[in-house]
Amino acid sequence: MEKEFAAKTALVTGGSKGIGRAISVELARCGCRVMVNYRSDKAGAAETLALMQAAGGEGAITGFDVTDADATQQALDDILSMGPVDILVNNAGINADGLFIMLSRDKWERVIQTTLDGFYNVTKPVVEKMIRQKQGAVVNISSVAGVMGNRGQANYAAAKAGLIGASRSLAAEVARLGIRVNVVAPGLIETEMIADAPVANIKQLIPMARIGQPEEVARVVRFLCSDDASYVTGQVIVVNGGMC
Ligand code: NDP
Repeated sequence: MEKEFAAKTALVTGGSKGIGRAISVELARCGCRVMVNYRSDKAGAAETLALMQAAGGEGAITGFDVTDADATQQALDDILSMGPVDILVNNAGINADGLFIMLSRDKWERVIQTTLDGFYNVTKPVVEKMIRQKQGAVVNISSVAGVMGNRGQANYAAAKAGLIGASRSLAAEVARLGIRVNVVAPGLIETEMIADAPVANIKQLIPMARIGQPEEVARVVRFLCSDDASYVTGQVIVVNGGMC
C-alpha cells in the first residue's frame, strides 16, 4: 500500500529531541522525506534521523538557528533548491520562565525571537515556494499557555499567542492558493522542556490525570498535514488531556 505522504518533503524545526523528534519520526513513517532541523544538538538530530530510518523513512539533518535570518535563508535556499517543501512544521521553541515583574529583557527577547522571528524567517521562503506549487500544509506548535496564559510565562504566552495570530492571518491569506495553516497547542508533554516543572501539582489540573507523550502531539500534527484535513485551516487544536 502506498504511504500517505509518499513523494512529499517535510521540514520540521527543532527536531533534535522531544516533540519535534516525534513529529519527524511520525511523518517519516508515513512516507515523507523529512528535513530535521536542529540548533545545537547535532547528535540528537542524528538520533532522530536514525529513528526515522528504523521506522522505514528517510530524510536528512540541517543545522541552523531559526532566529538567525541570514543563516536560515541560506539553509532554506539549499533545501528549496532541491525541490519544494510540501509540509512545514514550526516546532522550535524555548521557554525562559519568571514572574513578569522580575523578567529580564534578555528572557523576554529570546523567547519572543525564537517563536516569532523564527516563524517569520522559516515560513516566508517556504510559503513563497508553496504558493508557486499551489499546495502545502503548515503546522505551528503553540501552547496552551498561548491560549489561556500562565503564571510565570508572560514572555512564552505572548510568543505562543502571537504565533496563533500570525497563523490565522496567514491561513486566511493563502487558503485560496491551496495552502493550509493550522496550530497545535499542547498542554504538558513529557520532554526536556518540562524537566523543572512541578509535574505532580500540574497533574491535578489535568482531567486525564497524566502528562502527554510527544507521540500524542505528533499524531495530531500528522492528521493536520494529511489530506484527511483537506477542509481544515486557520484552526487551533489543543492537545492537553482535557484542561479547559
Ligand atoms: P525541547 O526543549 O525538548 O526541544 C526544543 C527543540 O527546539 C530542540 O530541538 C532545539 O534544538 C530546538 N530549538 C530551540 N531553539 C531553536 C532555534 N533558535 N533554532 C532552531 N531550533 C531551536 O522542547 P519540546 O519538544 O518540549 O518543545 C517543542 C515545541 O513544543 C516548542 O515550541 C515548545 O514551546 C512547544 N510546547 C512544549 C510543551 C511541553 O510541555 N513540552 C507544551 C506546549 C508547547 P537544539 O536542541 O538542537 O538546540
